[in-house]
Amino acid sequence: MGEPHGDRAAAPDALIKAIRMRSVMNCHRLAEAYRETSKVAYVSEQFPTEVVFAAGAMPWNIESMAIMLAQSVDVNRIFQLTQEKGLSRDICSFLRGPHGMMLANCYPTPDVVLTNDQPCEGLAKQMCLAGKRFDVPVIAMNTPESFDEDAIGYVARQIERMRERMAAELGLEGSSESLQRAVAFSNDAREYYRKTVALLETHKLPGISRELQEIFGMNYFGARENVTLCKALYQAAAELAKAAPGGGKRVIWIGQVPEETHELLRHMSREVEILYWAPLWNANLRSLDETRSLHSIAERAILYHWNAERMSVELERICDRFSVEGFVIVNVWGCRNIAGISPMLRDFAARRKIKHITINVDLVDRNNYAFNHVKNRVDAFLELMQ
Ligand code: SF4
Repeated sequence: MGEPHGDRAAAPDALIKAIRMRSVMNCHRLAEAYRETSKVAYVSEQFPTEVVFAAGAMPWNIESMAIMLAQSVDVNRIFQLTQEKGLSRDICSFLRGPHGMMLANCYPTPDVVLTNDQPCEGLAKQMCLAGKRFDVPVIAMNTPESFDEDAIGYVARQIERMRERMAAELGLEGSSESLQRAVAFSNDAREYYRKTVALLETHKLPGISRELQEIFGMNYFGARENVTLCKALYQAAAELAKAAPGGGKRVIWIGQVPEETHELLRHMSREVEILYWAPLWNANLRSLDETRSLHSIAERAILYHWNAERMSVELERICDRFSVEGFVIVNVWGCRNIAGISPMLRDFAARRKIKHITINVDLVDRNNYAFNHVKNRVDAFLELMQ
């Protein structure tokens, strides 16, 4: 979330400008969320934030914010608090971290908790705990895995009811005009986002995939500022493409992503170019239909599920278009989601003769991970990639 580090400090001016813009935007939105007068909605990952912006509230993604913890010196104290409250250490640190932050009163106080069962039901449960702790309404949405008209209509109706409840119980009025505006901002930003991803198909652009990942993690689609940010990143990528910088062999990082200065990333980036998985997903490249906003938001919500069958089709497209030669499957401690989809990923890689490694890590709680424990295997993988 901060200034360019390491290799990226030598990035071209346009990219540095985009990184700084993101950094300033993040600082601003964090500061805004802590203001007494702000209306804050805790949201889960990949939540349709257009709905939140339309209601005049500020989305606070509790899971993404956990990655800030990884950069904090006091991370152990936060985890200790969760243990004192009996939270099992087998739960992933992306859930324990936010829980500890709430116990330590470090997060802003929410006015409402909005949750989707994505990317996992563990997060949905964590969101319910947050609602109880702050004694605020929890409005939950269920997103089925099946992608058909019945399922899309079912999700769209839930979003409509969510909007009605926010208006009735909290006075968070989301008029159809404000929703349309948020959707239009979302689409404008998405257009730049998609064009930036398209440049990665034909060019190796150091630093760009990371920024796409950061913007995905911020999930600020629906805010006007995000259009400016995505445009700045696209301009940086286009400028970089003119110089056509090289890059090592390409691998995709599959699973949860650590903070940008993490030693594993620094170590691997010396030998290979890392593309992050999520920015390449179909769900992240689609525009919303402005004439059927809720229907379209519902479609995207279903596509965000880590559905093994659909993901396998997506991977075919990603590997072909982005010339991927290796998979780094990141098995985060306690993440049932990645544990569930990993066999499909390994089978896929074997079938396509893609070199792959599964690493067991914890990206937030250092008690569950040591670089030296994975370094030998990572080095062997990097050697294979040469
Ligand atoms: S279980 Fe996995 S997907 Fe769910 S919150 Fe934890 S890391 Fe994220």
